[in-house]
Amino acid sequence: MRKITIVGAGQAGLQLGIGLIDHGYDVTIVSNRTGDQIREGRVMSSQAMFGTALAHERNLGLDFWGDACPSIAGLGVSIANGQGGRALSFAARLDATAHSIDQRVKMPLWMGEFARRGGRLEIHEAGLADLERYAAESDLMIVAAGKGEIAGLFERDAERSPYDAPQRALALAYVTGMAPLPDRPGVSFNVIPGLGEYFTMPSLTTSGPCDIMFFEGVPGGPLDGFDGLAPDAQLAKFQELLRAYVPWEAERCTDVALTDWNGTLAGRFAPTVRKPVATLPSGARVLGLADVVVLNDPITGQGSNNASKCAASYLATILDHGERPYDAAFMELAFGRFWDNAQSATAWTNAMLGAPPQHVLELFAAASANSRIAARFVNGFDDPRDFFHWFMDPAAAKNYLAKVTA
Ligand SMILES: Cc1cc2nc3c(=O)[nH]c(=O)nc-3n(C[C@H](O)[C@H](O)[C@H](O)COP(=O)(O)OP(=O)(O)OC[C@H]3O[C@@H](n4cnc5c(N)ncnc54)[C@H](O)[C@@H]3O)c2cc1C
Repeated sequence: MRKITIVGAGQAGLQLGIGLIDHGYDVTIVSNRTGDQIREGRVMSSQAMFGTALAHERNLGLDFWGDACPSIAGLGVSIANGQGGRALSFAARLDATAHSIDQRVKMPLWMGEFARRGGRLEIHEAGLADLERYAAESDLMIVAAGKGEIAGLFERDAERSPYDAPQRALALAYVTGMAPLPDRPGVSFNVIPGLGEYFTMPSLTTSGPCDIMFFEGVPGGPLDGFDGLAPDAQLAKFQELLRAYVPWEAERCTDVALTDWNGTLAGRFAPTVRKPVATLPSGARVLGLADVVVLNDPITGQGSNNASKCAASYLATILDHGERPYDAAFMELAFGRFWDNAQSATAWTNAMLGAPPQHVLELFAAASANSRIAARFVNGFDDPRDFFHWFMDPAAAKNYLAKVTA
């Protein structure tokens, strides 16, 4: 039986590990936290996941939440006009319902499921010496440690990483008591030009349904400055900023309360693509998975989706590979297949971090007047390859608009 070791029990490591177990591989997952520590710890993400990624989970029988999880039926975009109103606004339904399951709910359950299906779970922080040992004992060693320090073993790919510093200060809060937006059936995505973005989305947390408030602030601007705040102070600051910049969202939040004292997060990181293969001092090679190799800013909500797609893609490549050795060529092939599909999400996400070019403003204006354009953009969150070619290119955007509005 081929032996595969995965470091990291997040979306990607667990999904891949469970898929491999189901195909008869001998799999060990190393996690630096127990399920209980994850469940009782701090929130980590807003983890909105769209149809394609959720289908990967369903294919493995990992959708344990059913009706308990609030549906994300669509997505609305508003651009603030700087005077308390909206310069434009549009919304559309998603072809497939999206979900956000607090990772504190999902990962402990998946860890139990991995063990139940025959996987071996080891709990400790894997360092370099551990990687050497696992690589020697395993046919294939995969690092799925997300933003963990160990990802630094993989060299930054400067050509694919246009930013070398964080482009947004991230701050979120899980709350109850948020009023629904009548014209927003799921995610509300608000752009505050020059300052950042504010999102809301329904989610399922450890105590039941909730909503997530999520600011992405341009560093040094008024939407930055959450680092080190106590959770209640962070929520109070959120409400103050909503009143100042997105008052239609403030109205929804007059009665919100934190779901729990660990329901807030603040931080920042530089979006980074890394080389997929790292060579350990012994010469052994290890393969990076998901955020370890493609770390996108959450502005477009692609990270968990990419983690799921990367795990599904690696699983297919491993199964195709049969009994052949997992050498460097195999590792490059596995990443290359994923990157062929993932690069649109990364390029689109990086573009959204800059000031929107004129053709994107025109696309948004057209979406607010035409429901077909709005639906195409909204459904692109599930698969950005669909609109990538016209969203990123002024001439193609013009052609697309001319065709749709003819
Ligand atoms: C504020 C915020 C909001 C987000 N919102 C969204 C969203 O709406 N939609 C979306 O799709 N994505 C979103 N993301 C991104 C998403 O959360 C990540 O892309 C996704 O969790 C990556 O999955 P992963 O399996 O690669 O890594 P992770 O989920 O980070 O899992 C890695 C695991 O490895 C463990 N680990 C680390 N180092 C070691 C070690 N040395 N030894 C053992 N274990 C180790 C970690 O503790 C962790 O459990 C958001 C991220 C942030 C920060």
